[in-house]
Amino acid sequence: MNRFRTYWRPWLLLAACMGALGAFLVFNLQREHERIETVERERLTNQSKVIEDNLSRQLVAINLALESVMAELPYWAGQPDGHERAIRRLKSMEVSMPSVRTFLVVDAKGTVTLANREELIGINVSQREYFQAPLRSLSQKTFFISSPFKTVLGNFVINVGRTIVDPNGEFAGVVSAAVDPVDFEILLNSVRYADDMRSMLVHGDGKIFVSQPALVDVIGKDVSVPGSFFRQHLESRRPVSTFDGIAPSTGDKRLPVLRTIQPIELAMDKPLVVSLSREWDALFAPWQRDVRNQLLVYALFVLLSMAGLVIYQRQQLQQRVVNQRLKLATEAANVGIWELDLKARRYHWDPAMFDLFGLDPKTVSALNDDWQQLLLPGELQRMKDATRATMKQGRPFDLTFQIRRHDGQLRFMRNRAVLYDDGSGAPSRLIGTTEDVTERKMREADLRIAATAFESHESTIITDGRAGILRVNRAFSDLYGYPAEEVVGHTTRMLQSDRHAPAFYAALWTDVNRDGTWQGEIWDRRKSGEVFPNWLSITAVRNDDGVVTNFVATQTDITLRKAAEEQINLLAFYDPLTSLPNRRLLHDRLHQAVIRAKRENGRLALMFLDLDKFKPVNDEFGHSAGDELLKAVGQRLAACVRESDTVARIGGDEFVLLLPSIQAAGDALRVAEKIHAALRQPFTLPEGQQVSISSSAGIAIYPEHGRDEGTLTSHADAAMYQAKTAGRDRFVLFQAAD
Ligand code: GH3
Ligand code: MG
Repeated sequence: MNRFRTYWRPWLLLAACMGALGAFLVFNLQREHERIETVERERLTNQSKVIEDNLSRQLVAINLALESVMAELPYWAGQPDGHERAIRRLKSMEVSMPSVRTFLVVDAKGTVTLANREELIGINVSQREYFQAPLRSLSQKTFFISSPFKTVLGNFVINVGRTIVDPNGEFAGVVSAAVDPVDFEILLNSVRYADDMRSMLVHGDGKIFVSQPALVDVIGKDVSVPGSFFRQHLESRRPVSTFDGIAPSTGDKRLPVLRTIQPIELAMDKPLVVSLSREWDALFAPWQRDVRNQLLVYALFVLLSMAGLVIYQRQQLQQRVVNQRLKLATEAANVGIWELDLKARRYHWDPAMFDLFGLDPKTVSALNDDWQQLLLPGELQRMKDATRATMKQGRPFDLTFQIRRHDGQLRFMRNRAVLYDDGSGAPSRLIGTTEDVTERKMREADLRIAATAFESHESTIITDGRAGILRVNRAFSDLYGYPAEEVVGHTTRMLQSDRHAPAFYAALWTDVNRDGTWQGEIWDRRKSGEVFPNWLSITAVRNDDGVVTNFVATQTDITLRKAAEEQINLLAFYDPLTSLPNRRLLHDRLHQAVIRAKRENGRLALMFLDLDKFKPVNDEFGHSAGDELLKAVGQRLAACVRESDTVARIGGDEFVLLLPSIQAAGDALRVAEKIHAALRQPFTLPEGQQVSISSSAGIAIYPEHGRDEGTLTSHADAAMYQAKTAGRDRFVLFQAAD
């Protein structure tokens, strides 16, 4: 349908136009042909009339002459010199009538009795047609006219004559005139107005008498054959006939007019027929030239039109392709196209513009107001300023502005335009595009946020899907000591320390690939070679197909945290002064030891030890000296026991020893003895002073003195109290009160 409209319809239209034009030309040529023919027939008819008039007058004159001769015959017969007179008369008549060559008077026997030419007198012409016809007819009134015949001189003549009747009414002879064709030739020639025109005078019997131009073998030819123009004309009995077709006399195609000459004043026995004709081809030669020229012009016109249409359609096709391309491009780019008529201050929008502004082209007609209402406050003024600047300076128009559409959406629009000069010198239009750049603006904002976030205080590495480093931030460089250019292109393996076995890393990547994320402590190596702990988070980035394209890894240096943790641990379980286990850790270890002893049916010893008269040391040497002494005591205690034993400080100058695996109470006593002796050795304080102290200790043994921690503890404490009360400087094995 569409193809028909765009392609075939113009061709049909062109064909119709060409057909109509062709028909018009043919019709006109036809009419012209008919007109030429009609005009020619009229002209030929008129010319034939001229001949008729002329010829008729001559025949009438000849007839009068013959009648006058007949009238005078009796007179001449009665005169002695009548013969000479008659001859003189005939001679003078011949001179006055140029068309007549000979006048004859013939008697009833056919003998020439009088003639203008005396040599003819006495000749018998009884066998001649011009004698026989009147003899046969005996009509007194008839004007006989003979068929052309060849004379002894070789030229053709016709004879006209009248019958002479004697007073008794008997045939008495013929008076006759031989008509010279020369005069008729001049007459016939005088009506010819074209070279191809032929004038003929034909006798009623069909013999050609005169032909102009004089054609060889035509004179005397009989044209009275069946079907000939001549025959048709005579048979029609019309005075004038017109024909067209092949002339029997000459065999060429002609347009003849035949006219019968038979003046009413004469009772001619046979008519004369004048035939005027034009040669068909010569007559229509100008017309045929016309036809040829018009045909040529017409063909040229058709060809040019077709070529024009082909070119036009090709251009249309190209235009459509260009339009289609533009449409696709603007659609793909989500771009609308507009024009501002600078004179009329009117906008013209393409359909995409309405989409962009969320307006309905059916309801929105007064464009300016409708869309300008969507502009956020101040935007219209900016737009006007930008337009003015463009017009003043001829700069391209480029403005991004905001609208709020009727559906409530806030959109960013970018208008770009150029001035269009239609040739008048002054720009008449502003042609531009509008693009919805909201998404781009958002993306730009996203990118800015991402970039800012990326450059955060947290060390971040972005890798490709195979852990190849693509980007690192400044915090990374600060943490690892590598500038970005030294790591980009390498894999994260360059950051690994030797603290983890390959299996650790393998497990890590298995987790990331499965869960998309991994978090944990990891030891890495800085550029300086220093190994440090960090808290690593790895997140996998997947594309729309679910394929991992990138990893984002963040690292937090947890060296300090680690140290703090250790510190906290120390604070919680160790005595800060002596670094010996504190009460809590002792309690823990005692608990474990009791469980173990129970399980293994073993023994353990718990020893409470308190320094004697420590307070005075403090008082004498100062509190810090006391601290130093406490530290030294701790060291001596630790030196007296095995690795697996525990020496704890549970407060003040009070220590507890846990010997988790002893065979018998004696083992504990031996250790107590050893400790007692060790502590009795004098101490040297930092300032150089010598201090000697003693200690009191109480010992309880599992399972003899208690089967649980509480009992053991209180019994060991009770034993120590006994040692104190017993005078100090001793150790006491718990003894159950009896
Ligand atoms: P006793 O023979 O009865 O044990 O008498 P003592 O002087 O040792 O007194 P007691 O054991 O009752 O008190 C312990 C003293 O140790 C109390 C306090 O002045 C001192 N002391 C407690 N903790 C510390 C400490 O951390 N540093 C120092 N320098 N002195 C401490
Ligand atoms: Mg004490």
